[in-house]
Amino acid sequence: MTEHSPPTGPVARGEVTEQADERTQSAYDKVYDVAVIGAGVVGSAIARDLSGHDLSVVLLDARDDVGDGTSKANTAILHTGFDAKPGTLESRLVRRGYELLSAYADETGIPVERTGALLVAWTQEELDALPGLRDKAVANGYEHCEPVTADEVYRQVPALGPGALGGLTVPDESIICTWTTTLALATDATARGTTLLLGHRVAGARRVAGGSGEEGAGPGEDVTVLATPRGRVTARWVVNAAGLGADVLDGLFGHERFTVTPRRGELLVYDKLARPLADRIVLPVPSSRGKGVLISPTIYGNVMLGPTAEDLTDRGDTGTSESGFAFLLDKGARLMPTLLEEEVTASYAGLRAAVDHGDYLIEPSVDQGYLLVGGIRSTGLTASLAIAEHVRGVLAEAGLKAAVRLDLPEPPRMPNLGEAFLRPYEDGALIAQDSAYGRVVCFCERVTEGEIRDAYLSPLPPAGLDGLRRRTRATNGRCQGFYCGARVDALVATKGGTCQEAAE
Ligand SMILES: Cc1cc2nc3c(=O)[nH]c(=O)nc-3n(C[C@H](O)[C@H](O)[C@H](O)COP(=O)(O)OP(=O)(O)OC[C@H]3O[C@@H](n4cnc5c(N)ncnc54)[C@H](O)[C@@H]3O)c2cc1C
Repeated sequence: MTEHSPPTGPVARGEVTEQADERTQSAYDKVYDVAVIGAGVVGSAIARDLSGHDLSVVLLDARDDVGDGTSKANTAILHTGFDAKPGTLESRLVRRGYELLSAYADETGIPVERTGALLVAWTQEELDALPGLRDKAVANGYEHCEPVTADEVYRQVPALGPGALGGLTVPDESIICTWTTTLALATDATARGTTLLLGHRVAGARRVAGGSGEEGAGPGEDVTVLATPRGRVTARWVVNAAGLGADVLDGLFGHERFTVTPRRGELLVYDKLARPLADRIVLPVPSSRGKGVLISPTIYGNVMLGPTAEDLTDRGDTGTSESGFAFLLDKGARLMPTLLEEEVTASYAGLRAAVDHGDYLIEPSVDQGYLLVGGIRSTGLTASLAIAEHVRGVLAEAGLKAAVRLDLPEPPRMPNLGEAFLRPYEDGALIAQDSAYGRVVCFCERVTEGEIRDAYLSPLPPAGLDGLRRRTRATNGRCQGFYCGARVDALVATKGGTCQEAAE
């Protein structure tokens, strides 16, 4: 029972049931218990968690798809939190998030590979820092880091460039599909009853006093009216999970407590032939400037080099740059020279929502019925479910009553995008049942017609090619759509063949 956008919206969606349509129609008339702004991984996790309780929840995003902001472009590591700053909220929530997301991934089929990581010291100073890093990991509740010699470093990652002096293992660091994570959470949230309003940029917020009779505010019950270009949405509580836009939104509520600086991280994706070079994550020793440039296998079978860290002013600048490319090649040449002999399949950039505050900023303004969830900079994917749990606790302390529901639907079972697990094109039994899974459309990524059709029939169908890529991997491979582009475009036009007239 999904509601994606009001009927007037441009986002053509899959089947809308009568019941869902009714709910969509009434989204602007209703007073929700909680409105969550931002359908990235954090906001989607919060909406899912809250709608597991007897609360009415609406999730709004300015964009026409979920997970279309920072959550779609990161390094996709499920962090143990070994290197977080001990005692911070971030340290606690990353650690807890790791456990929660690991379990949720098992339940829903979000692909995760337990590759482990090796942190490599290249200078005496870095080597000297390793015992301290292990102590830090222990202080963060992670006790499995082990120092290793240079010989052991090269035994574990033979392709490393010369000069490594030693290392520290982080056996539980893992890789995950960031796209499937947000999709699973948002799909789950809507199945639990969350109203999802895409294409709804919140541009204003007005608190209305209870008993005024205005905007449905009942006696003793203040509400907030959110202005969007499509209509007004009213809620008793508003959660700001707007990522890069969180400070602007905070300003709409009269606060001036922080500024988001978009910190660009550029990455290079190497061809699948490079994968044997890196079967685990190779980390640098973190410094005050951040986590540094890593080499990591990806869940899709590639190898990734990055990210850079560059402060920008433009919050929409997710383009890659010549200088970023040169910087990464220079780093890569030292870390793993043979990687540079492989082909770069793609490059991309994500923007971290950096704030001048050393921790997550999760602060309620009880009088305003407003909660800021800001500064979720470089660990938000891992911590998402724990942030959601924490948010529920903060709201409960602030007076929001929420009893656990006993009638929850099963969590969704997500299509597998992971290279290490059985994919439809290689599943003989599945193909025997439905030949569409035997018809490969994108040969580089081996995406079948059946998967593209399924994406359009899913509760949250893609709004365009980009969304389809995140749901299926179509056109993401070596040829970047050169060979399959026309066929994929035709399938986008017909919504995966589910709607012939859409092409006309
Ligand atoms: C290069 C890079 C590498 C990273 N690597 C990792 C990693 O390996 N592991 C990890 O755990 N984390 C990692 N992260 C961090 C992680 O990606 C983020 O912390 C996480 O995606 C933040 O999610 P979010 O939901 O807060 O933000 P977003 O995904 O940006 O979602 C915010 C949403 O709010 C919407 N919005 C904004 N303003 C408004 C408005 N006014 N009205 C309506 N909607 C609005 C936006 O459209 C957007 O969809 C990395 C980040 C980067 C950039």
